[in-house]
Amino acid sequence: MSIRELDQKYVANTYRRFPVEIVSGKGSVLCDTDGREYIDMGSGIAVTSFGAADDEWQRAVIEQIGKVQHTSNLYYTEPCAKLAEALCTRTGMKKVFFSNSGAEANECMIKAARKWAAENKGPDCFTIATLTGSFHGRTITTLAATGQAHYHELFQPLTPGFISVDAGNIAVLDKADAETPLAAVMIECIQGEGGVIPLDPDYAKALSAWTAEHNVLLLVDEVQTGNGRCGALYAYMNYGLCPDAVSTAKGLAGGLPLGATMLGERLESVLGYGDHGSTFGGNPVSCAAALNILSRIDEDLLADVRRKSRMVFEMLDGAPGVEAVSGMGLMIGVRCKKPAGEIVAKCIERGVLFLTAKDKVRLLPALNIPDELLIKAVNVLRETAAE
Ligand code: PLP
Repeated sequence: MSIRELDQKYVANTYRRFPVEIVSGKGSVLCDTDGREYIDMGSGIAVTSFGAADDEWQRAVIEQIGKVQHTSNLYYTEPCAKLAEALCTRTGMKKVFFSNSGAEANECMIKAARKWAAENKGPDCFTIATLTGSFHGRTITTLAATGQAHYHELFQPLTPGFISVDAGNIAVLDKADAETPLAAVMIECIQGEGGVIPLDPDYAKALSAWTAEHNVLLLVDEVQTGNGRCGALYAYMNYGLCPDAVSTAKGLAGGLPLGATMLGERLESVLGYGDHGSTFGGNPVSCAAALNILSRIDEDLLADVRRKSRMVFEMLDGAPGVEAVSGMGLMIGVRCKKPAGEIVAKCIERGVLFLTAKDKVRLLPALNIPDELLIKAVNVLRETAAE
């Protein structure tokens, strides 16, 4: 059987895969079984921050694997402690809980918010408002947090205690809070799976003021937007927000599983011994990888992400067949006249791997994609959209 046949026979049928079998890669170029090369404009859905098989990242990973690959959380390890220090120093957050994925990072954020609210506002205060169109993960609780009803339908009953509210409308929060006291509001600064939709800056500011005024926590899901993706270390920094907690994963370890929940001043002490845990969370290899990634997301790199972003917007804004371009940094959505799926399929034939997000073609290239490859890929998109 071919790999494709084996996969179809034995792997659970949850992913509609593109007809490409990737065997290797270097930087922003991936290679399939026939030796065909593709420009990678998805970086594993915002994961391989510095591309495939990056040399520096590999060295950090191999060095740690040679020392010890896992210890359990019953012991101290240097990569875990140093990564927590680096994250806190660069964000002003106070403590970090490590897990393995975005959904788990959100689960921890939700548990911390619930415990804080129970202790500070009473046992009836546990409801978390999330935004319509949001995506927060696939576990039963993070599905409940996800503000898209079609994800909920087959998996009832979901975890109670979530409501979804429309972005842009502060009055709706007043009403919701009056009906059921809110513990927290949880947002993505740019909805990724929801269609690359940035939060309106005026609404973000108003939301921040509203949560402060009403003693409601502000939780920011930076699973997709974080780790340099949007031209700041975390996208909330572009909005001038001061969240009580931030979750991240995806690009943090550049291609190894790692989730992180950063807790600010109000939440730093809320989780105590035995309140939460994870066998693999804070794994030394993943943390060593993340330390390498984080050390390279400096001001120069972020300025370069913003420059590349401007270049892509200039190339696509108003191009024939392109209706709208949205996003921030190297998280960009392009609505074309033709269906996104059709465009992505054509671009694969032309040697470029894009993603979709709702009705848009989604661009999430490596943060260090060379200009030459970026321009080549965007030109393929332009040509395909114009046909
Ligand atoms: N939150 C956001 C904003 C995401 O985009 C995703 C995944 O796409 C998740 C959470 C879930 O992350 P994971 O798939 O690592 O559990």
